[in-house]
Formats: sequence, C-alpha cells, structure tokens
Amino acid sequence: MRKLIIAIDGPVGSGKSTVARRVAELLGYVYLDSGAMYRGVGWKALRDHVPLDSEDRVAALARATRIDLVSSDGGFRVLVDGTDVTNQIRSAAVAQAASKVAVIAGVRTVLVAEQRRAAGSGGVVMEGRDIGTVVFPDADLKIFLDASVEVRAERRRLEYAQKGESLEFSEVLKEVRQRDRRDRERAVSPLVRADDAVLVDNTAMSAEETARLIVFLAHEREAAAKAEARQV
Ligand code: C5P
Repeated sequence: MRKLIIAIDGPVGSGKSTVARRVAELLGYVYLDSGAMYRGVGWKALRDHVPLDSEDRVAALARATRIDLVSSDGGFRVLVDGTDVTNQIRSAAVAQAASKVAVIAGVRTVLVAEQRRAAGSGGVVMEGRDIGTVVFPDADLKIFLDASVEVRAERRRLEYAQKGESLEFSEVLKEVRQRDRRDRERAVSPLVRADDAVLVDNTAMSAEETARLIVFLAHEREAAAKAEARQV
C-alpha cells in the first residue's frame, strides 16, 4: 500500500510532538520534527554568539550546518555537526532563539530542502508550522492542531518542570504569546491553516484521543489512495 505524507502544523503547545510521534508509532511511519531543526540552528547561533537579528550571518550559519535527526529508542536524537544536542535544544532560551532564526528566509530555504529530503517517498508524519502550506503543499493528509492559549501554556510549563526548569505560569504564558505572534506574523511562511487542513482543536482532548482521530483519518486516506490506484 502507498504510504502517506502526513503534515501536522500548529502553534506552541498544541500537542504536535506527542501526537505526531504517537500517530507515527500507530501507523508504523517515521516521525520527523521540523522544529528540532530550527532549534538546532538557534542553539548553534547562541553558542557561536551570532546575533540572531543578523539575517546574513544566521543564514550563512544555517548553510554551513549539518543537522541530523537520528532514530533512537522510539524517539530521535538531534545532532548538530555531529554533536548530540537533544537535551540542550529543549531549553526556554533555545526555544526563543529558534523562533527568531525561523523568521529569516535564508534559514527556511535551507531547512525546507532538508525536510523534503528527509521525508523520502512517504510513510512519514512531519510536524511544524508550515508543513502543509510550504514544505508539502500536496501532503496526503494535513492536520492543523490547536488548543486555547492557556491550556497550551500550561502544557509547556509542565514540560519545562519535568526537565527541572521551574517557571511561573504567567512567564510561560507570555513566552507562548510572544512565539505565537512571531510565528503568525512573520513575512515568510507564517503559521496559517492550509485551506485543505483538518482543524483539530484538542483543548479538551488527550494526546491519545487526538492521535487516534488522526490515525482514523489516515486510514480513510490510505483506503482512498488504494481505490484510486485500482482504477488506474
Ligand atoms: O515546534 P518547536 O517549538 O520545537 O519549534 C521551535 C520554533 O521553530 C518555533 O517557535 C517556530 O518559530 C519554528 N518553526 C518554524 N517552522 C517549522 C517548525 C518550527 O518556524 N516548520
């Protein structure tokens, strides 16, 4: 059976990572986190003291960087020029840096090409902000995940707490609002729902329920693709 390309987009804390990973697991597909690539570039720019608002320098840094997402133990490790930065890229500082480098067109060109290459011929669930609109406008199934800003900030706060970074709810809410604004208002590839994306608001749904709903939709698309192939 032909394997699909599934695009999952949505704002910070909408549950993309947990849901996309689980959907991939249930379907036997590969999970690809495009945000990890922006975080990798943000991490390196911070490490090398490259000013994040210097578009030319950050774009040159992105071109000169190799980012690998390597499957491991049901998850993946992120390597930047061969250095394992899986844990470091999850800090609040790197999250902010990632959303700043993500507004630079030269950075996006490099990473979008990398994402297309990584998806190969299908059987992937890729999550991000512009997967259904820019990276794979012809994806077989597009999902736009959303939830209320308060619920998203609380999910984020819990994630930080689990990693030992204890932040006030109000502080995280502010960070989430800032990143939302940057993602939605940037000139290049802003976060918008593709016209043909299914909107899934999971404010009151668990990650498991959300994943199972998407798997249900994926099975429908797989069946449609099979029927189409039979007619040809
Ligand atoms: O999803 P995650 O929070 O890991 O992404 C980090 C940052 O990378 C986001 O705040 C967003 O600005 C950027 N990003 C993007 N396009 C993507 C994935 C992430 O602009 N496809």
